Amino acid sequence: MTLKESWFNTIKKTIKLAKNAGFCYGVKRAVDTTKKIKQDNPLKTISVLGELIHNSHVTNELENLGINTLSTLPEKGNGICIIRSHGESDDTFNEIQSKGFEIVDLTCLDVKKVQQKAVELVCNGYFVIILGKYDHPEVSAIYTNAKNQSNDANNVFVAQNLEALKGIEPRIKKAAKVGIVLQTTQTKEFLIEVVNYLSQLCKILKVQNTICPSTTLRQEEAKKLGKESDLMVVVGSKKSANTTHLAQILESITDTIHIEHQDELKNFEDKIKKAQHIGVTAGASTPDSIINKVINKLENIN
Ligand code: SF4
Repeated sequence: MTLKESWFNTIKKTIKLAKNAGFCYGVKRAVDTTKKIKQDNPLKTISVLGELIHNSHVTNELENLGINTLSTLPEKGNGICIIRSHGESDDTFNEIQSKGFEIVDLTCLDVKKVQQKAVELVCNGYFVIILGKYDHPEVSAIYTNAKNQSNDANNVFVAQNLEALKGIEPRIKKAAKVGIVLQTTQTKEFLIEVVNYLSQLCKILKVQNTICPSTTLRQEEAKKLGKESDLMVVVGSKKSANTTHLAQILESITDTIHIEHQDELKNFEDKIKKAQHIGVTAGASTPDSIINKVINKLENIN
């Protein structure tokens, strides 16, 4: 071992957790309120339409408390149906009500704002572009509500990447006014890329930056921590849009691994042992209990 190598090996390893890792306020409110509803109504059937959050541990915990996760609506409703933080379209609200459910709406207020902005834009004659993940429930509801308010269903479009917009360039050029909203968990980098492209094509471009404050803070902190770390560990479901974005952002800054569960760390033991400064962050739907187990495991590997 050279002198330089031995000096590096005496530097203390650090494992640092980002300040805003784990549940955001919208998810915390949804989880806490759902448990409270069951506690206050032990004899009522309590259901959530879709997974309350993208985390199987939380879904299992809720099921153990007697809270059902519905993948589709039954013919006839019974008890309370909870709307998760991603929100639903007005059509779905009407359908749930017509089945006979009592609705408790836990849509995050930041998601409601995006729905409203998209509707406002379409009602004011804009061709509306929603920047977000195809088939994500939040995006589907924003799209459906805006489309239902438009005279022309072709006036609302979802783009997951720049290529999708390039594919409709003639439509964009033809539109008198173009408006943008974003899924709340998108990245600022994607917005900038799209605005740079659209500003060359559109006569009037209105940008509603609807990335939620919690996402912005989480991403900015993760970038800062990424710059100080030679390995970043992102904890959270691969189905979670905001967790996947965190991993993508960090991959461009430093060596990054994205795991759902502490047991997956064994696949990266070499990297973890070599890393001097390890940063940890987690998506908005990752419970503290999982983050703590990941940190314990990282400490043990080191
Ligand atoms: S990520 Fe933002 S918009 Fe989504 S639930 Fe959390 S706070 Fe609300």
